[in-house]
Amino acid sequence: MAAYYNENTIIYFNGEFVKAAEAKTDLYSQSLHYGYAVFEGIRSYPVNGGTKMFKGKEHYDRLRRSAEVTRIPFTYTTEQLIELTYETLRRNNLTDAYVRPIVLCSPNMSLSKGRESYLAIECWEWTNGYMSNQMKIITSSYRRPNADAFHVDAKVSGHYVNSILACQEAKDKGYDEALVLDCNGFVAESSGANIFYEENGVLYTAPKGHILPGITRATVLEICGELNIPVIEKFFTPDEMRGADAGFFCGTAAEVVALSSLDDVPFKKTGKIH
Ligand code: PMP
Repeated sequence: MAAYYNENTIIYFNGEFVKAAEAKTDLYSQSLHYGYAVFEGIRSYPVNGGTKMFKGKEHYDRLRRSAEVTRIPFTYTTEQLIELTYETLRRNNLTDAYVRPIVLCSPNMSLSKGRESYLAIECWEWTNGYMSNQMKIITSSYRRPNADAFHVDAKVSGHYVNSILACQEAKDKGYDEALVLDCNGFVAESSGANIFYEENGVLYTAPKGHILPGITRATVLEICGELNIPVIEKFFTPDEMRGADAGFFCGTAAEVVALSSLDDVPFKKTGKIH
């Protein structure tokens, strides 16, 4: 894993551009103690000699919505956030990069709603995604958080304890990633990506409700619409998916990555679409 920052790295933090190595936050905040923070993961790519974020507006609209549903005060507009991100990339001389904005809360250890928030925008070089191609995945013993307990469709820091548990369990067992079920036992997503499988020329993916509805997932649906590829959003079990014609994960970090097997049952790889 590449280093995230060095002594020259610049981040945007609370109204100014500062050195990452010198930036300070405090130890008395709900964000650290309770995971009460919201964030995004965005990719930028070299495009036509310049730098272009992939779906920056969609990501920052989601960040603002994540803050709203978790009742963290946050007043930046999407346009301001996009501009600040390009400036952060520029100051770090980065093009092919991963951008990580995070909204942290001010000192307050009670369980009341956020009083004041701080924005940090961090970015680091990212050339070859974090997932290998042809992933071996395993059904996790962990379930996604119950949708009645959390705003699962928001990107909230605390939710990712579940992702760490599921991902590490899979890796400890010798697999590349986890397939995580929802609280009802239907396939939801992986620890950090949405999932599709293909059977008889039709793509299937979990509906909204128990997943983080990814911006990449929405893009796949859009492209399928343009190409007249049938996609059905439905609840399905790992049994229905095992041994299907093909499967893939999609997400900002993963991009679109093929699956080789689920619970040691290989995908047939006879899919026409993938
Ligand atoms: N599900 C989870 C749990 C994720 O963390 C991510 C990554 N943000 C995704 C799905 C994919 O979402 P996106 O395509 O917006 O990156």
